Amino acid sequence: SYGEDEGGEDDLEVRPPVVTVMGHVDHGKTRLLDTIRKTNVIETEAGGITQHIGAYQVATELDGNERLITFIDTPGHEAFTAMRARGAKSTDIAVIVVAADDGVMPQTVEAINHAQAADVPIVVAVNKIDKEGANPAKIRQQLTEYGLVAEEYGGDTMFVDISARQNINIDQLLEAILLTADAALDLRANPNMDAQGVTIEGHLDRGRGPVATVLVQRGTLRVGDSIVAGDASGRVRRMVDEYGEDVEEAYPSRPVQVIGLTSVPGAGDTFLVVDEDRVARQIADRRRARERNAELASRRK
Ligand code: GDP
Repeated sequence: SYGEDEGGEDDLEVRPPVVTVMGHVDHGKTRLLDTIRKTNVIETEAGGITQHIGAYQVATELDGNERLITFIDTPGHEAFTAMRARGAKSTDIAVIVVAADDGVMPQTVEAINHAQAADVPIVVAVNKIDKEGANPAKIRQQLTEYGLVAEEYGGDTMFVDISARQNINIDQLLEAILLTADAALDLRANPNMDAQGVTIEGHLDRGRGPVATVLVQRGTLRVGDSIVAGDASGRVRRMVDEYGEDVEEAYPSRPVQVIGLTSVPGAGDTFLVVDEDRVARQIADRRRARERNAELASRRK
């Protein structure tokens, strides 16, 4: 069942942080995700990230170690709130992007509120420092009002001045994410159990049928596993990553596209591996029935 015991200390292994990028419209969230996607790919034969599957992993070096970071590839806090509304905690760290020539705006504040309400640590990316009129010090000043005090001013929030367009300080931003994760969070999961996690997005593909991108949060997801995701179920026939490569096993914090479900789950639906197809179908049927009953009940009111 979901929430299954993860075992003892010895069973837990470090997993990469999962990051959502939020901030005011036009402050550069999409551009930042693009720049990170292009510049920090994991060394594979496939080359770069070629598929938009809703999340991607990049590698960066910290203190001589290669470290991975998972980015949710949907800018803005819609995805974040959709998942939270369903009780799924999908994000470990929020990067709040603020344009240095524009300053703190309503959606900046909204993003900060969402992250703080979810108890998710924040890293501030002060973007567009290449622009005339950029005033990164002013951003730091403005954000103190929201409890975000930069480290250099004696606080504990990391601010990084970047240009998503000119690829300035992107590595420093990735480093700040890892340092924040290491300082504030204990990101470990047991990879040796049946996989559980959350659906990031789902759609019906003309050729492949229902396709869902899932984020594994604990355990290992394997081709051949029977899974339930929301009221969808089925057997994992194939898994594909953001590099367009087939994946046999997906470890904690790994996003993969799953092919083989009989219907399309929604963003924020939790998923889990079950013993048999039959059990997966039964759980999915029961969930559908429960949703139908709830809907009928609410209509009667
Ligand atoms: P979003 O709405 O937050 O996703 O913003 P976008 O990523 O779409 O960026 C909005 C605009 O700002 C686009 O025209 C980008 O090219 C531009 N932009 C983004 N980052 C930078 C930057 O670092 N410097 C400059 N000069 N422009 C940027």
